[in-house]
Amino acid sequence: MASYLTDIEIAKQVELEPIEKIAESADIDLDSLSLYGKYKAKVDAKQLDALKAKPDGKLILVTAISPTPAGEGKTTTSVGLADGLNKIGKKAILALREPSLGPVFGMKGGAAGGGYAQVVPMEDINLHFTGDFHAISAANNLLAAMLDNHIHHGNQLGIDARRITWKRAVDMNDRQLRHIVDGLNGRTNGVPREDGFEITVASEIMAIFCLAQSLTDLKERLGRIIVAYNFDNEPITAHDLKAEGAMAALLKDALSPNLVQTLERTPAFVHGGPFANIAHGCNSVLATKMALKFGDYAVTEAGFGADLGAEKFLDIKCRLAELSPAAVVVVATIRALKMHGGVSKKELEPENVEAVLKGLPNLERHLKTIQETFNLPVVVAINKFPLDTEAELEAVRQACEVRGVEVSVSDVWANGGAGAVDLAEKVVKIATNDQILTHAYDLNLPIKDKLDQIVQNVYGGNNAALTPAARREAKQLEALGFGNLPICMAKTQYSLSDNPKLLGAPENFEVTIRSLKVSAGAGFIVALTGDIMTMPGLPKVPSAENIDVDADGNITGLF
Ligand code: ADP
Ligand code: MG
Repeated sequence: MASYLTDIEIAKQVELEPIEKIAESADIDLDSLSLYGKYKAKVDAKQLDALKAKPDGKLILVTAISPTPAGEGKTTTSVGLADGLNKIGKKAILALREPSLGPVFGMKGGAAGGGYAQVVPMEDINLHFTGDFHAISAANNLLAAMLDNHIHHGNQLGIDARRITWKRAVDMNDRQLRHIVDGLNGRTNGVPREDGFEITVASEIMAIFCLAQSLTDLKERLGRIIVAYNFDNEPITAHDLKAEGAMAALLKDALSPNLVQTLERTPAFVHGGPFANIAHGCNSVLATKMALKFGDYAVTEAGFGADLGAEKFLDIKCRLAELSPAAVVVVATIRALKMHGGVSKKELEPENVEAVLKGLPNLERHLKTIQETFNLPVVVAINKFPLDTEAELEAVRQACEVRGVEVSVSDVWANGGAGAVDLAEKVVKIATNDQILTHAYDLNLPIKDKLDQIVQNVYGGNNAALTPAARREAKQLEALGFGNLPICMAKTQYSLSDNPKLLGAPENFEVTIRSLKVSAGAGFIVALTGDIMTMPGLPKVPSAENIDVDADGNITGLF
């Protein structure tokens, strides 16, 4: 088998442009930059006010079919597409999520793209970057400290320590911290209670950070966070603890989007990174809006498949921020289609056109959702892997052509922007902004009806089935005035249903809603369909074992 350079080896071969040059190429005012070394900068969020009158570019959303555990290459395709758009003479800018440290040391790998389609400096982006996630952890933990301090000093608010919903956060995969007991060792050391940690990307602060439209909006949202309930069953908020001002102060600098570049010097905003399971899973609203101001095309990615990431992007983020994509790219891979066609993980390599054809209904279901439920134009990007055969690629091409959907084989992992010239041309062709985004559900419907609409209009199932506990929670949330918030589905990414083993395009299923919780600051109701992990663990052999740094500070082993 041919041997390939690793992502970091490829990244190191390329000489980076000073970040001021990148900013200049995007017409970003140099006075608005705060430099973090030579190749990273923050662009002052206040720039958006200054640019109010400037028309927005076109928003291009990159999503995917239901993925395999390895990911299907949405980030890689997004990066390559932005490079490809620039190659054909368009001014394109990326808006992506920041990677979490936890998975970097675990299994999944980085989140800065791959092969010849990467954002750089990838080792910085994958490690501390500009410190945003540390600031988010600090704000999160300040709130936790103020909460326990309040109880320690007499608990005037009558907080029921058994009903504290706020957890501590650290940006690490550390299962040891999932459930802990703290405040031990006598009365000077706090009040003993059961507690736990979430990974920073799963924290509500991260979701708030990504949905906030200004510092004022950020502060108001932080104040609305529900941290616990009192003995009368009423919610206690961060505002009740007088915490939002100090939390916002900790987040002030972090809120400005980070500017970096791709290997081909396309400007890229990399900012915010909420989990796509417990939150909405896309980069900050501010970064997206900035990319739209400075680019004729802003290319962005939403986590997981179109049923999860794109649905939440369109129904939560776009609704809130009044955004509407001009085109949607659905990334498909031959290996994922084969899996949906019934092939086991170990047998994905040999050519198998029949399995590809059998897996196509998964792609078709997602296309139907984008076209019919959300009323948006779509193009399929087949992310080409080294072992894909021409017959397999042709099978997907033909199926798309029969449906009347544009399709392009994207080879950006091997070739960078040159591998996405055809895709870029097709995106430009369909991104006319003639179609107006429609949503999967109306915000004013009762919670149960909204859930049914998502199951029917996005997953292709029959309805949502609420457990008695979830029904009770729906009633409470509506009574507390949260009934008209959007829904943030927490569901397996592997299936359109809530059963990860049901691949392809299942029909006639119910989705069981086990619990409903409000993220009052983020402004959505999280609907949990199964056990959702908010603190991952490390695998038996974590990738941390292979990461190293030499005497000169060169990092190796990062993918
Ligand atoms: P996603 O954003 O969908 O999770 P990524 O773009 O991060 O996926 O890609 C997941 C992994 O697959 C990365 O390690 C990337 O380098 C690798 N990858 C992506 N596309 C290809 C490809 N065409 N060929 C080989 N490896 C790829
Ligand atoms: Mg990604």
